[in-house]
Amino acid sequence: MFKKILIANRGEIALRIQRACRELGIKSVVVYSEADRDAKYVRLADEAVCIGPAPSAQSYLSMPAIIATAEVTDAEAIHPGYGFLSENADFAERVERSGFTFIGPTPESIRLMGDKVSAKQAMIRAGVPCVPGSEGALPDDPKEIIRIARSIGYPVIIKAAGGGGGRGMRVVHTEAALVHAVQTTRAEAGAAFGNPEVYMEKFLENPRHVEIQILADTFKNAVWLGERDCSMQRRHQKIIEEAPAPGIPRRIIEKVGDRCAAACKKMGYRGAGTFEFLYENGEFYFIEMNTRVQVEHPVTEMVTGIDIVQQQIRIAAGEKLPFTQRQIELKGHAIECRINAEDPVKFTPSPGRITMWHAPGGPGVRVDSHAYTNYFVPPNYDSMIGKIIVHGDTREQALARMRIALSETVVEGIQTNIPLHRELMADAKFIEGGTSIHYLEGWMAAHKR
Ligand code: ADP
Repeated sequence: MFKKILIANRGEIALRIQRACRELGIKSVVVYSEADRDAKYVRLADEAVCIGPAPSAQSYLSMPAIIATAEVTDAEAIHPGYGFLSENADFAERVERSGFTFIGPTPESIRLMGDKVSAKQAMIRAGVPCVPGSEGALPDDPKEIIRIARSIGYPVIIKAAGGGGGRGMRVVHTEAALVHAVQTTRAEAGAAFGNPEVYMEKFLENPRHVEIQILADTFKNAVWLGERDCSMQRRHQKIIEEAPAPGIPRRIIEKVGDRCAAACKKMGYRGAGTFEFLYENGEFYFIEMNTRVQVEHPVTEMVTGIDIVQQQIRIAAGEKLPFTQRQIELKGHAIECRINAEDPVKFTPSPGRITMWHAPGGPGVRVDSHAYTNYFVPPNYDSMIGKIIVHGDTREQALARMRIALSETVVEGIQTNIPLHRELMADAKFIEGGTSIHYLEGWMAAHKR
């Protein structure tokens, strides 16, 4: 096992990885920007190194600064967390070439899945069901584009091969708007992701977002750890996640879960990963794979009792998965609310000093957050300041626990989306379960948000 790991991230996930290291008896080095000087994980770290000013490009995205820090601190491995460099194949390659272990899949796997066109093709080969769409990237010829759209049927969605974070997508309802939409998405994708390639999919009108968590070791063992329902989204950004997905027959989920694990074996995938699907009318349709730990991983940890971050580290250290698929048992129900520093009505960021932070507690309640009273939320990064996760024997109990947890939570000095979560936990449709990815935006329009 490693003696020392460098954590190339910030915020709650830096703290989460630090805790996993501590439990495994591994020392951790955190890197931080000048804006994160007072962060909790910096204060709690065995070693902390300032690697640059606030802008991510000069700190959390600076490969030379991170690798040099690993060298001077004698770290053996680098955990990239999520976001930043976590899905950057060049970074993974440079880490390994510099003699460190990258805690994640091989650069080849990251590259294959990072391009959504090649990812989809790999899934089709592995027998994972995909959204009907263009066979690969769209050609230049407008006539050909029109022909493809006709064969799929409107509405269609144009998506950037290199897209991520809910960006680089455009829905097209009519043939008249098609070619222009393809050109605009291409131009945007080229500018935003450095890759102008786009592809086309059938736009599913009322799907749910359901994803499968997998773990695979370097001995060709792969398991899936149940599913998560992440349909509560605003602008393609998830805000509430739960496990298991309410109301979907187990046999349908088991079939797709087994396919995902088989695909991992076929691809020689290692580490943690998530297969994201849209689910509609009893069918699963693959949309993309994330080759890293996800924000919402705790709901899976709560229902399986498996520490996903520790498993990532163990797999990277060359250990075998300590369980087989048969030994994985899902118990009860878990829900996560992402707490964002933002105006709950206008959704504009609300950085600044937290004058009062009181986290909830009690049976089945977990809080993953780097915030504390007097912490200054910097304006430079993602607005998420923590996650409240609850677990109960049933979904009803989990919902009740989340309501109590949210009522106990106090955050003063900045605005947060806690009021929105409180309303959603009392919303009849959400309580019923099974709402689609469009539900939240519809709800907000109805509530004049
Ligand atoms: P990203 O990498 O940017 O997260 P995804 O491919 O995972 O992109 O899609 C993000 C979200 O966009 C999905 O959760 C869903 O809400 C919506 N979406 C993507 N593809 C489709 C589709 N074919 N039909 C309907 N909605 C889609």
